[in-house]
Amino acid sequence: MRISLIHERGALSPFLMKMFVDGAWVESESGESFEVFNPATGNRIDTVPKGTREDVKRAADAAARCYRKWSETPAIERSRVLFRVSQLVRDHADGLAELLTSEQGKPLNESKGEVNSFANSCEYYAGLIGRERGAHTPLSTGEGFFIVTRRPIGVVGAILPWNFPVSLLGWKAAPGLAAGNTFVVKPASTTPLTDVKLVSILGKAGLPDGAVNVVTGPGGVVGEEILGNPKINKIAFTGETATGRRVMEVSARLIKRVTLELGGSDPMIVCDDADIDLAVEGAAWGRFRNCGQSCTSVKRLFLVDAIADAFVKKLVRKTKTIRVGDGADPQTHMGPVHTGAQRERVEEMVEDAKDRGAEVLTGGKRPRGKELKRGYFYEPTLLSGVDYKAKMAREECFGPALPIFVVKDLEEAIERANDTIYGLGSSIWTKDIEKAYDAAEKIQAGTTWVNSPPIARAEVPFGGFKQSGFGRELGVEGLEHYYEPKSIQVYEYGKGKKWSFPI
Ligand code: NDP
Repeated sequence: MRISLIHERGALSPFLMKMFVDGAWVESESGESFEVFNPATGNRIDTVPKGTREDVKRAADAAARCYRKWSETPAIERSRVLFRVSQLVRDHADGLAELLTSEQGKPLNESKGEVNSFANSCEYYAGLIGRERGAHTPLSTGEGFFIVTRRPIGVVGAILPWNFPVSLLGWKAAPGLAAGNTFVVKPASTTPLTDVKLVSILGKAGLPDGAVNVVTGPGGVVGEEILGNPKINKIAFTGETATGRRVMEVSARLIKRVTLELGGSDPMIVCDDADIDLAVEGAAWGRFRNCGQSCTSVKRLFLVDAIADAFVKKLVRKTKTIRVGDGADPQTHMGPVHTGAQRERVEEMVEDAKDRGAEVLTGGKRPRGKELKRGYFYEPTLLSGVDYKAKMAREECFGPALPIFVVKDLEEAIERANDTIYGLGSSIWTKDIEKAYDAAEKIQAGTTWVNSPPIARAEVPFGGFKQSGFGRELGVEGLEHYYEPKSIQVYEYGKGKKWSFPI
């Protein structure tokens, strides 16, 4: 079975994408729409419906109706459907990746990786459900026993960012559907297209109508209705820390279940016994992949004094080889920043660091070249001598600029690394495994990679300490966040307490 992915790259006449609700393509009830642009060319790619609160209500009703059916579907059948989803997504990986590159900007290979990561999440959770074990535990008084079963939570509102619109949908929908929940999805307004296509594919894999619905439109309307809608029982959110605060505030009114994956300012620490060449490759990959717009991008580089000069020389050389361009060009290593506003934020941070005495080692400006004029390109940038009070050191720098700090030893590196409100990812580079393990325990972050740049895996739980959020996605822990534990106490006849007054 082939599914049409009719998006001509660069086509100026809009295809008029619709939303996907209750198993059907629908317009917004307002009849309004908004445009989606390619960040590399400025070309309009498509037009999508501007969803309203009414549209969310319609989607939430469909998801609530479907929940009764899907939550009672046997685990083995839910598992089969998810395996089919992953196969269909892999069959359409090339078309989906092209669409993703055109709306998000990342190079095609990265987009393919992201589509594969969606399929991996489906396969992982399809394999997990129906194969779990539980326990029957005697009550401490000997009167009987208890068991803890789990029920799916209900309807989940998944609110997505623009930097990984596809894989992050997989992190939520795969465990959520595996557990028996249904979904209302809100993609970021600048990257709705691939998510809508994906959701329409899910329907072809045997998911009942209404199991996953997608409503496109502004966060302040569609997002807010998802947060406040009484039929939506849980919010799975990825985005900025400031928006995460708003999610908590509104969700608190209905005591909704919430998981938050928020920003990060991830430290990379290179010790004097590290494999320098490997770490240089890791730093460049970790910072400039997705144009530096990953929540776990390397955002602060700490080099121990003894190796700092040699490391910086090699990293500058490596960074200068990174080819900037349209992600659709197979020669491109790094695409554009996602929006003009996002590029301006990066530029402001670089200027602020320079004003406080930092030196730009390479980059630090928009690249020249006729073909790059219309996109939001920015050169891969390295800065040394950055003041610890600079914005780039204190806030999340979501773009291709890396501040380098030289520290006297590992102890100072860890202290500096922890001096942030964030705590998402981190990495330590050393050949001494004991040192690595000890440092990993001391770094305040949800994940520490040892001798690797940040790579998420379906089987490894992912999430933040401190203001990087709470709850975990992926792994067995990620599945647990889509269940309510249910305790059942069973008393054997004649053994229970006598229920008579006085107590
Ligand atoms: P935003 O927080 O701006 O947006 C995320 C989503 O929330 C979008 O769909 C947005 O809609 C929506 N939204 C905005 N306002 C509201 C509201 N009032 N109520 C409900 N929903 C709302 O983040 P970005 O899209 O800019 O994503 C980048 C950020 O995400 C970075 O800070 C990054 O670190 C973080 N991130 C964290 C990850 C993690 O796992 N911890 C992973 C990936 C990214 P709209 O687009 O319409 O404004």
